[in-house]
Amino acid sequence: MQLKNKVAVITGGSSGIGLAAARRFVEEGAYVYITGRREAELDKAKAAIGKNVTAVKGDVANLADLDVLYETVAAEKGVVDIVFANAGFVEQKTIDQITLEHYDKTLNINLRGVIFTVQKALPLMKRGGSIILTSSIVADKGLPAHDVYGATKAALRSLAKTWTMELKDRGIRVNTLSPGATDTPIIDSQFTSKEQADGAKQAFSTMTPMGRLGRPEELAAAALFLASESSSYITGIDLPVDGGYAQV
Ligand code: NAP
Repeated sequence: MQLKNKVAVITGGSSGIGLAAARRFVEEGAYVYITGRREAELDKAKAAIGKNVTAVKGDVANLADLDVLYETVAAEKGVVDIVFANAGFVEQKTIDQITLEHYDKTLNINLRGVIFTVQKALPLMKRGGSIILTSSIVADKGLPAHDVYGATKAALRSLAKTWTMELKDRGIRVNTLSPGATDTPIIDSQFTSKEQADGAKQAFSTMTPMGRLGRPEELAAAALFLASESSSYITGIDLPVDGGYAQV
């Protein structure tokens, strides 16, 4: 039991990487708060996780929703040990296609959402806390049509370094986790047909040294490492879990 009696907040915990992490954290003894905007997905996730989970519906870009999240945690547990700021949004647009709406939506979810998810957790965090931000290998690779998305994910890498310094004296560690192409609904969400999505998955598999997409459980295992005492002397790093894609 690597997270016995720990309290974790996982944004975007109703699907994909966040859901896999929530399941794994609960298996390791944690109590988990998951968030997402779609109630039906949260209900399904809650049932799949089974125990020691509370779902709080909310949009990370909405500060009032984040207040409800942490008011709930404060009232029920009074403490947060682990923040996995994982909710994210991707919509493919090249430099010629970027609109103000696309820019605002991407920054509001991927950057504003992460900043205030972390800021509002801090009053509940004590020494030994761990903050994990879901970045992406796109922060380092030039992937066409991931312009604004990639910029937000690179910003998270920067924030993790700055927060490492700002929070070190409070005994709180901050790291980023950078998935490569991982088999979750976010890939399908970027395409209009299943054929296109399957084509993209095949292309990502070919570009990846390990020859396949990542599984959400493989990201969850890395999140567990960063959340737990196993990484007690690790702060400020980026942990890529990408089958080697951005490493070679
Ligand atoms: P996913 O299965 O689509 O899950 C995304 C989760 O985030 C869902 O629970 C979704 O729920 C939630 N979410 C999205 N926007 C939100 C918002 N504004 N407020 C609250 N929750 C929100 O995708 P995933 O692959 O697990 O993505 C998790 C993270 O990994 C993201 O940050 C993504 O950028 C990053 N990532 C993924 C890949 C990949 O290939 N899968 C690669 C690199 C990085 P609702 O839609 O109901 O809100």
